[in-house]
Amino acid sequence: MKTGIHPNYRDVNVVCACGNTFKTRSTYKNDVLHLEICSKCHPFFTGKQKLIDSAGRVERFRRKYAGVNKAEAAPAATKTTSSS
Ligand SMILES: [Zn+2]
Repeated sequence: MKTGIHPNYRDVNVVCACGNTFKTRSTYKNDVLHLEICSKCHPFFTGKQKLIDSAGRVERFRRKYAGVNKAEAAPAATKTTSSS
């Protein structure tokens, strides 16, 4: 192996947001790698539906498009100009 060109490959502890931890080997810069999802809690492996919404983006989307269906029913009447 040529020296000086390979990144530092070492043991890394992986910590998931669900509480699961495991060890792997990686060139990751820290000793602990934090995950939001892993194979223990991902819906594909658990078979359960889980909404991953850390920043409230789904809620924002629902609020933004709450009146869209009503607007489609009467497109001419519900044209609002929100300049403020
Ligand atoms: Zn997990």
